[in-house]
Amino acid sequence: MSSQKQFRAIKGTRDILPPDSALWNWFEQIARETLESYNFREIRLPVFEDTQLFARSIGVDTDVVSKEMYTFEDREQFHMAHPLSLVDVIRLDEAVAEGWQRGTIPHTSANEAEVIKLHEACREIEREGTAAVLRFLDSVRNLALGDSLTLRPEATASVARAYIEHGMQTLPGNQKLYYVGPMFRRERPQKGRYRQFYQVGAEVLGQSDAPAIDAEVLEMLLLLFKGAGLANTTLYINSIGCKECRSKYVELLREELRKVKDKLGPDSQRRIETNTLRVLDSKLPEEQPVIEKLPRISDHLCAACRQHFSELKDELHLREISYDENWRLVRGLDYYTRTTFEVTATGLGSQNAVCGGGRYDGLVELLGGPAGVKGIGFAIGTDRAILSIQEGEKVPHLPGLSVFIARMGAKAYPVAISMARKLRACGLAVELPPQEMKFGKALGLADKLGARYALIIGEDEVSSGTYTLKRLADAEQKKLSENELLEYLESERRGSGA
Ligand code: AMP
Repeated sequence: MSSQKQFRAIKGTRDILPPDSALWNWFEQIARETLESYNFREIRLPVFEDTQLFARSIGVDTDVVSKEMYTFEDREQFHMAHPLSLVDVIRLDEAVAEGWQRGTIPHTSANEAEVIKLHEACREIEREGTAAVLRFLDSVRNLALGDSLTLRPEATASVARAYIEHGMQTLPGNQKLYYVGPMFRRERPQKGRYRQFYQVGAEVLGQSDAPAIDAEVLEMLLLLFKGAGLANTTLYINSIGCKECRSKYVELLREELRKVKDKLGPDSQRRIETNTLRVLDSKLPEEQPVIEKLPRISDHLCAACRQHFSELKDELHLREISYDENWRLVRGLDYYTRTTFEVTATGLGSQNAVCGGGRYDGLVELLGGPAGVKGIGFAIGTDRAILSIQEGEKVPHLPGLSVFIARMGAKAYPVAISMARKLRACGLAVELPPQEMKFGKALGLADKLGARYALIIGEDEVSSGTYTLKRLADAEQKKLSENELLEYLESERRGSGA
């Protein structure tokens, strides 16, 4: 009676299987090419970082930091010899005492209590034996030697950390970096919302905050979406001001919100005090009339921020980029300043944002880096971009299996092996089945695998040096010599992109 546990992907995570994975690779390839054509270069980042990096940059009152992070303690355990003798226990006790004195065991109150407990346990072991050994071991295990780490919920903070760590402010020009990879947030899973999801992001860090940078980033983003055939995208932009004018506006907004508190639901009521701007994000229908009457940031920007926003719009016109202004687009995270933006696409239901981003001029300094570094960036949600492409009318036809080799007879086998090698060297995807099959069965399998062609190699073909190439879509057959065959398939591949 064994009931085996059936392992499944963890809730909110999923496998991207073929043929979808080809679409993912294709999308990421278009993204890389587009970003690189604007002179962005890839940065590969770790997927976990110090918890404080995210807490400090994203903000402790955001949903991401307060509820959604995958945080764990990076425990290094004392190495323990087995079986443990009394001498080992005494050695371990001495090692712990030394670790505490030297500070290799961090001086936290929890660790201090544990150190005291295990020292007492060691004395007990000398008196009592086994039961006390177990208590002693528990205490050793409880020592938290490591740091608190978090699986990255986003990557802007990591890019800023890397910028500071590698002294990139000394490099010439602005740093234009992009990243591709998974992010982790413990959100409630639904269509377009996962706990492990993927982003393609780009960041510009440097001394300048010229609106031309913001505009170029947006131009690049829209070009990327166009290249990937994303239908009906809409760009929304806003300015949420700088530290000074935004904090004055937030004060005013909070005062106004307190006056209408009773008309808001519990989430918004809480946010009035913890993350005021986020109230503007609310989608609750009953809150909409209240929110529409609130003061708008555009009426409260300082002169410099107003100028920056207006120049950005001029730059967008220059680049023939259409956009909608959305005064309620505040983005959730603390580090944004001035320009914020979002792109929505169709076919996604309620999770229709495929990209979000904005300016974060103070972030590098906030994280202990040099003063005066400005930044802007975006993150595209790849899962949603792919969903939107799949729901649209422009799903690309991606090359799959080109040639299935059907062989019969002992003499055909070495020829089939060599032919497969030559076709693959021409860049074609070739399937050479491991076992010989009757031609009828082989052609049936070739069809099911979606091959474009079946190449038939029997003993007759080997002795005559001409091979039969069958196009599976319409069963058209050609007899070709080896050279003709390679030439034909290669030119086909170039023509069809297959
Ligand atoms: P954010 O910085 O939270 O706006 O994220 C940027 C983009 O990443 C969003 O516009 C989404 O396309 C995508 N994204 C964010 N969270 C998730 C999630 N849980 N699942 C899938 N995509 C997400």
